[in-house]
Amino acid sequence: MAAIARYGMRMVPDSAEIIRQCRERGQLVEGPHVAQFESEFTRLLGGGHVMAASLEYGRMALLKVLKALQIPAGSEIIVPALTFWVVPEITRVAGLQPVFADIDPATFTLSPAAVERAITPRTRAVLPTHLYGLACDMDPILALAKKHDLKVIEDCAHSLGATYKGRMVGTLGDASFFSFQAFKPLNTFGGGLAWVRDADVAQRVAEYIAAEPLPTEKRVEKVLSAGWWQRTFIRPTVFTYSLFPLWYLASFTNVKPDRYLWEKVQRLDPQPPHYGGKFSNVQAAVGLAALARLPEFIERTRRHAKVFDGMLGDIPGVAIPRIPEGQTHVYYQYCPYVPDSAGLVRRCIRRGIDVAPMHVDVCTRMEIFGWKGPATPGAEKAATSVQVPVYESLADHEIERIGRTVREELLKQAKR
Ligand SMILES: *Cc1c(COP(=O)(O)O)cnc(C)c1O
Repeated sequence: MAAIARYGMRMVPDSAEIIRQCRERGQLVEGPHVAQFESEFTRLLGGGHVMAASLEYGRMALLKVLKALQIPAGSEIIVPALTFWVVPEITRVAGLQPVFADIDPATFTLSPAAVERAITPRTRAVLPTHLYGLACDMDPILALAKKHDLKVIEDCAHSLGATYKGRMVGTLGDASFFSFQAFKPLNTFGGGLAWVRDADVAQRVAEYIAAEPLPTEKRVEKVLSAGWWQRTFIRPTVFTYSLFPLWYLASFTNVKPDRYLWEKVQRLDPQPPHYGGKFSNVQAAVGLAALARLPEFIERTRRHAKVFDGMLGDIPGVAIPRIPEGQTHVYYQYCPYVPDSAGLVRRCIRRGIDVAPMHVDVCTRMEIFGWKGPATPGAEKAATSVQVPVYESLADHEIERIGRTVREELLKQAKR
């Protein structure tokens, strides 16, 4: 039986054709689609200034936004203790000092009370990550920002399409950014986009983007083929005979081979050479097609999550993801708390389901940040949850199989 990988890609069925057409017209790098993509994205968000900002990385959109906001060097910026390590590292590249605030382990998102405790006279900004597809509790965070005159920059890498009290995430603060890496909610094989509320700030972001070099055609082809390889590796037939056997063997040992999947943790100043480059026309063309399908992608992912809610919600000691009143979740990840996550991961892997230990970073315990501030027990607790594969491209029978396997293993654990 084929194994099921932890990640899947949102692919529009005709992307090969879209790419072929761009190539044929000589419009891989430049063309009309970037502006069209930006205007469709603006429509989705409902206004503001939207700018495709980078060929390969969401983080480069963040860096441009931070610089364009002209926050004085050395200011403190409040970042969740649980987020992708790159986010606080980029704030340092922008000359700011990240200060970690704890998350609410029930929702995995930034705790407004922790933000309030972290504010000092040097604080100038807050950077909430809408982790796993659910918005942070933004109203109290926005109220604190108003009271203390802080900029609010939303990290929407996981949460395109999620809403908070009827508003789209990415439009709640002063600025936001999105990532279009292969496994993110909108896949253009890499890339990043910035949203900005204020016209002057937008003008400066546009200048930073204009200063980026156009990628060569060869480099764009490389980005496309990297995306193709990633897709190939997580196809059930390929995954089953490539990565999965390593996972399987490792489940009997203490070795954690999956850490090699993740990017090496390192200082990003000086900026690695491949970080530059403008978003390309072919990515925008693929992105346009993906945007048209976004509602369907979200709907199917939600349906998958609902199936898991039904199958796992009644098991003693298990806490399924919680959605606060007035919010919608887009389930970039489905992360329940279970009594013994390492044990569950091992047992599911032996049955062909790549359930993973939670993998975003508890930044407060990472050497690179040398955090000396208060402990962040919420983030530590979050690290005991697991990620159950929930992505859109899974068929209903696969979701059924995943849910049944996880349920059976959890019930066995409960008996032990
Ligand atoms: C992926 C991600 C980013 C930025 O993504 P890149 O495109 O890799 O730069 C930012 N925040 C979070 C939480 C992410 O998962």
